[in-house]
Amino acid sequence: MTAPVVTRFAPSPTGFLHIGGARTALFNWLYARHTGGTMLLRIEDTDRERSTDAAVTAIIDGLAWLGLEADAPPISQFARAARHREVAEALLAAGKAYRCYATPAELEAMRETAKAEKRPPRYDGRWRDRDPSEAPAGVDPVIRLKAPLDGETVVHDQVQGEVRFPNKDLDDFVLLRSDGTPTYMHAVVVDDHDMGVTHIIRGDDHLTNAGRQTLIYQAMGWDVPVMSHIPLIHGPDGAKLSKRHGALGVEAYRAMGYLPVALRNYLVRLGWAHGDEEIIGTDDMIAWFDLPAINKGAARFDFAKLEAVNGHWIRQTEDGALVDMLMVERDHLPNGEILKRRPEEEVRRQLAAAMPGLKERAKTLVELTEGAAFLFAERPLAIDEKAEAILADGGRATVAALLPGLGALDEWTAGSVEAAVRTYADGAGLKLGKAAQPLRAALTGRTTSPGVFDVLAVLGRDEALARLHDQVAQS
Ligand code: GLU
Repeated sequence: MTAPVVTRFAPSPTGFLHIGGARTALFNWLYARHTGGTMLLRIEDTDRERSTDAAVTAIIDGLAWLGLEADAPPISQFARAARHREVAEALLAAGKAYRCYATPAELEAMRETAKAEKRPPRYDGRWRDRDPSEAPAGVDPVIRLKAPLDGETVVHDQVQGEVRFPNKDLDDFVLLRSDGTPTYMHAVVVDDHDMGVTHIIRGDDHLTNAGRQTLIYQAMGWDVPVMSHIPLIHGPDGAKLSKRHGALGVEAYRAMGYLPVALRNYLVRLGWAHGDEEIIGTDDMIAWFDLPAINKGAARFDFAKLEAVNGHWIRQTEDGALVDMLMVERDHLPNGEILKRRPEEEVRRQLAAAMPGLKERAKTLVELTEGAAFLFAERPLAIDEKAEAILADGGRATVAALLPGLGALDEWTAGSVEAAVRTYADGAGLKLGKAAQPLRAALTGRTTSPGVFDVLAVLGRDEALARLHDQVAQS
């Protein structure tokens, strides 16, 4: 029986959870769910100067919002420094690593020579076989891996295929610095091994590290996890993803009103496909996701597509769930204030009533909130320029003429108000739209809204008639 799959997401908390990191997390989460395995979260906080608690919180919150929580509490890499040291010492004791006393000046000279000879800078192995008794006084050594000098190291990558590194290019790199702290290269291997990670899925900017890391696994006699290096996300122009083109933190997408389900759908399609499916729900994603289907080529980020996918998921989401979501997102949406103007119960009731009409028109929760603004607007309404033009151009007279019929209704529903407006329009020889337009302007202060009869119904008789009277009073 094969061991259960363990994946991990290993962000460095030097900034927020950016969109590329979110996709890496998604792929790790999906592969764990697909195989009935586990996804772990490791915070790579060894760089004490650049790591912040705020970034750790943002990463954990971002994952939770996206629905990609790890299956165990996060592990701090920094907290494991003693274990990293222990493994480096073990390699030393086994003759697989050695102490190097080269001074900064010597290393600098090595780099200069390599540069002059147009070679990549590599450590020249000067302490590899030297007797430690020759160690200069007062120099704290680093510990370097005794890497194989010839042959090649092969990474069997699920996405990139077989990637071969000539060992002469993988020099005796540092495992432990002279102050006893581990290098990134070393800490990652020790942690992945100790955490029981079976599958590493990460950005292909780590592919060369995979070669060096393989050497550490081999030196320790540990199994090398299955590797998948996924292509980075580029901008729509094929260049490195810029802020303008989407290189933002996950919280920015939240503030733009994207739904987690839509963002997951959009992100999974960046570099992975299942036939031509564009709209993929989470259950299908889990069922279909697999590593070899990940593309080798860079994915391109496209805001228009993300919006379209988001609009789809807004329409797919049940009205009640959207109302709940808007309530939760009030603090995150830039225009969330709109939803705080009335008692929560009232806001919920009105949103629920208006939701069928609202959600047809909104591509984001920001647009949904904006569309709902008329519900909670205070009288007398602020009328925008286009709406004012309609009201001024005979619209107020039409509203005045409609009022008696509407005011006389016993029953106030979308159907009954529509019938009243039709009766008036027919009698006056007007097209229905000519009557509806000024009504919309007077009721919402805008020229776009859900269907005007729904607007009348949702506002309720008293509020609707009061808004209409407000306009007539001005004529
Ligand atoms: N901490 C690394 C990063 O954020 C990832 C390391 C890894 O996945 O092995 O890029």
